[in-house]
Amino acid sequence: AHALASHVPLFQLDGDEMTRIIWKWIKEKVPHSPSFSILFGPPVIPLRSNIDSVSLHIPQLVFPYVELDIKYFDLGMEARDKTDDKITIDAAEAIKKYNVGIKCATITPDEARVKEFHLKSMWRSPNGTLRNILGGTVFREPILMKNVPRLVPGWTKPIIIGRHAFGDQYRATDFLATEPGKFTMTFTPTSGAKPTTFEVYDFKGRGVGLGMYNTDESIRGFATSCFQMALLRNMPLYLSTKNTILKKYDGRFKDIFQEIYEASFADQFKAKNIWYEHRLIDDMVAQALKSDGAFVWATKNYDGDVQSDILAQGFGSLGLMTSVLITPDGKTLEAEAAHGTVTRHYREHQKGKETSTNSIASIFAWTRGLAHRAKLDNNPALAQYCKDLETACIDTVEKDYVMTKDLALAIHGAKLERKHYVNSEEFINHVAKRLEATQRAHPK
Ligand code: NAD
Repeated sequence: AHALASHVPLFQLDGDEMTRIIWKWIKEKVPHSPSFSILFGPPVIPLRSNIDSVSLHIPQLVFPYVELDIKYFDLGMEARDKTDDKITIDAAEAIKKYNVGIKCATITPDEARVKEFHLKSMWRSPNGTLRNILGGTVFREPILMKNVPRLVPGWTKPIIIGRHAFGDQYRATDFLATEPGKFTMTFTPTSGAKPTTFEVYDFKGRGVGLGMYNTDESIRGFATSCFQMALLRNMPLYLSTKNTILKKYDGRFKDIFQEIYEASFADQFKAKNIWYEHRLIDDMVAQALKSDGAFVWATKNYDGDVQSDILAQGFGSLGLMTSVLITPDGKTLEAEAAHGTVTRHYREHQKGKETSTNSIASIFAWTRGLAHRAKLDNNPALAQYCKDLETACIDTVEKDYVMTKDLALAIHGAKLERKHYVNSEEFINHVAKRLEATQRAHPK
């Protein structure tokens, strides 16, 4: 019944610094557990000097129910530079074709990084490249631990936020009006029809102005990804806009969402007992703060920029925030931790010092990616495995009180002592022990 799984590869994309170390540990831990080697494949193939555009192949593994072909792309800074960033494009194309990618955090180079790594060029953000090639929307979701207090204590269930990452302020044209004058906007139809000019403002003195846009196509893709995400996570969906002020602009977002909902999703939502509703952004932030969570929040570009940081703070540690990119057709999913490469810890690690880096969001990148493969292939054994691994992480923190420093700090605050937390490796080992026990408990 699971024959499909053996033919469909999935892709792990390696990354940088502390998260690269953790990525390796996650994969290499518990070498004696057959289930773990099914999950993570053999140890990472080291970076080779002759690395080319083809992914490094990890041999197919055999398991009583699932056979996974996990291929490796090295998106570490050196490999990206060596391949002129072609490896990132290849990884994206592979995910686009085969639908599942699991990604480690990567460095987005700036001037300092260009110097540090002697880069040929300031390569663009791998996440940007992936998003450009795959399309779709990025959703952030927190992992909740009962014993880790949140800044907003009422948030006992996750709030999943999706940000429309196209247009609006981020592609706007803004200018300084340095003297009195008229600010107008003109729309010139390609068809040759008569242009329309709008008078925006008559400046009597100095000031500022802005023109911005979005497209129906992009809004449609965003809306469809949001409906897919709500279905995937079984939660109601809210879109927030300011359509009372921007009647045409934000009104278009509202209308497109409503139209797609009615045409393609209303029945599926009803069947799952979930719903879609539009909210004014100001009502929505109040509702979100008062709620106990358990909904998907579709935000416009700027609102998402702001609100996703509010949610990250409200829920607590960055080490507990996951991120998935989902395409409008709901078929392709790329999963990762929402945090970066944790450079500060890596510097300590390089000095040979102990670190206490939270690996939970990185482990959840694996479970969310594999769970999607399980869903596409209708592979319940793999789905169960993903649940077991997530439970192993949560129980390690909730039941065993074994956690990294970031979580211990959230619990103990100023009273934090060394005995309250474990180091990066010990944490992963503990999760591995718990996982092994569950795999023995229900042999496949
Ligand atoms: P960061 O997320 O690595 O760290 C931000 C802060 O949160 C730091 O104080 C860090 O110690 C803490 N933190 C984050 N994750 C943690 C974890 N798992 N456990 C414990 N503490 C954790 O972001 P940054 O320092 O701004 O960036 C570092 C590098 O990461 C940069 O080169 C940046 O380009 C890259 N980055 C990558 C991604 C991505 O690949 N998705 C996202 C953000 C930043």
